[in-house]
Amino acid sequence: MTEVIKAKRKAAVLAPSQLACLSKLPTINLTAGCAHQCLYCYARSYSQNPGQGRVRLYENTLEKLRDELPRKRKRPRAVYFSPSSDVFQPVPEVLALAYNVFEYLFSNETGVALLTKGRIPDRHMSLLCANSTLVQAGIGITTLKTELLKIFEPRAATPEVRLSQAKRLIEAGVSTRIRIDPILPGLTDDAEDLNELLNAIASIGVKQIAISTAFLRPPIIRTLKGHVRDKRALDILLSHYESGPTLTMHGAGTSVIMPPAPLRRKIYSCVKQIAQQYSIATSICACKNGDLANGSCHIAGDWLGEPDARRQRFLFDSLDSVCRQE
Ligand code: SF4
Repeated sequence: MTEVIKAKRKAAVLAPSQLACLSKLPTINLTAGCAHQCLYCYARSYSQNPGQGRVRLYENTLEKLRDELPRKRKRPRAVYFSPSSDVFQPVPEVLALAYNVFEYLFSNETGVALLTKGRIPDRHMSLLCANSTLVQAGIGITTLKTELLKIFEPRAATPEVRLSQAKRLIEAGVSTRIRIDPILPGLTDDAEDLNELLNAIASIGVKQIAISTAFLRPPIIRTLKGHVRDKRALDILLSHYESGPTLTMHGAGTSVIMPPAPLRRKIYSCVKQIAQQYSIATSICACKNGDLANGSCHIAGDWLGEPDARRQRFLFDSLDSVCRQE
């Protein structure tokens, strides 16, 4: 059970994210905190996060949106959900608010860009599909390995549910991408497992993926150490960051610890190579991997321009042959 703390949002509801790739679209978090409780989640350490097992629901979001949107001099083409929470958390109050907010945006010809690891209820799915030209969806899937998902994404939807939701969206004409982010080095980057995942992704008609390894910060490391009971898995994961660089998130200016560049190059090249075999284009999250790639991974869809993975400059194209099982 998730405890819901109701709160009134005081600041503007339509606010751009600091991240470079989201800086040109307004974004909305319906909650502070996220009931999915992924252990690698950066948002768990945010000061407004109400803590384990709780979310703070901004119950006046729709009211503020009704006030702000008509007064915008330049109407946004779309709104992104959500930079530091998930809009499809398994919490009835959050889902009810999400439905009403989406309905209001669609009735005002405003699009919805979303990224979720959650279960999309039928009612919401029908609404999204009925407004397919106003929706661009990202479905996050990190691995098909159930044991790892139980540890790292304990309350998110199963990969089967996420894949079937992506399929339904695609069939309804919704532009839909898969985001394999975060890849957990040593745990979810095995070539055979990636091939199985990409095969499943290709089988539902996905043509675009975006990828990144997990990033760490001291509070994330503390969360992992406090909650991952499988110490072997934890040690494997953390060992891949011991000599990794501290990079600056593009736009946000905050620091993140990443695996060493050669390891990331190897992982990304491997994913890209397998994805190519399935005619899937790969983008790298350049906000987190500024030393390896530039351009946009189109986390919010193509509201701000057509996606073209070929235009993203991969700084490691010469390493495309490194994908192999070890
Ligand atoms: S679904 Fe996203 S926002 Fe929610 S806990 Fe997982 S990573 Fe964090």
